[in-house]
Amino acid sequence: MNIAENLQKIKLNLPENVSLVAVSKTKPVSDILDAYNAGQRIFGENKIQEMVEKHHQLPKDIQWHMIGHLQSNKVKYMAHFVDLIHGVDSFKTLKEINKQAKKHNRIINCLLQVKIATEETKFGLIQKEVEEIITSEEYNQLKNINVIGFMGMASFTSDINQITKEFKSLKTFFDHIKSNNSNIKVLSMGMSGDYTTAINEGSNMIRVGSAIFGTR
Ligand SMILES: *Cc1c(COP(=O)(O)O)cnc(C)c1O
Repeated sequence: MNIAENLQKIKLNLPENVSLVAVSKTKPVSDILDAYNAGQRIFGENKIQEMVEKHHQLPKDIQWHMIGHLQSNKVKYMAHFVDLIHGVDSFKTLKEINKQAKKHNRIINCLLQVKIATEETKFGLIQKEVEEIITSEEYNQLKNINVIGFMGMASFTSDINQITKEFKSLKTFFDHIKSNNSNIKVLSMGMSGDYTTAINEGSNMIRVGSAIFGTR
């Protein structure tokens, strides 16, 4: 298991418009440095506290993405440095991010998490809720957040047709919203097991952990 080699292999087949988020959750700082020294600059974590500690210890030109489910009361710990928050699934959380971003005089980029999986357990907004949020007057008043796209997670299944169908539905929705909202640019979908499918279906940001850093 060689992190630099794994990264190289993934990047070899990556279209130019697709960003790679290296998901380093649970992995030690030394592993992140291996990836960093191989040129990787975007890292994803799913726990705020863990990301804060790693941010403190690692080079400051790393772009940190929060990919996990958010607890509103912890947003304040990452508001001064987080580069992109993928898992926003309520208006309440957007409001809290806006509040904390304002304290640091920043505008924080966010993705709304859209539910595409059929499983009950997956977080996310349904499409109608997304439309309600981004067309509301209250949302318009949040000046310290910038919703730049959507994030989706496919069902945990080996049924490639099911996964393809779910990614397709989010891409269609993304295109629909994007057609009259110029802020919407990022479509974050695809993990170690399904990123090739996701890219084929129009993803432009993949979140890859185990295929880079090994199993957790
Ligand atoms: C852990 C995680 C990933 C990466 O998963 P792998 O299968 O290890 O690539 C991607 N997205 C989210 C939201 C995650 O929590």
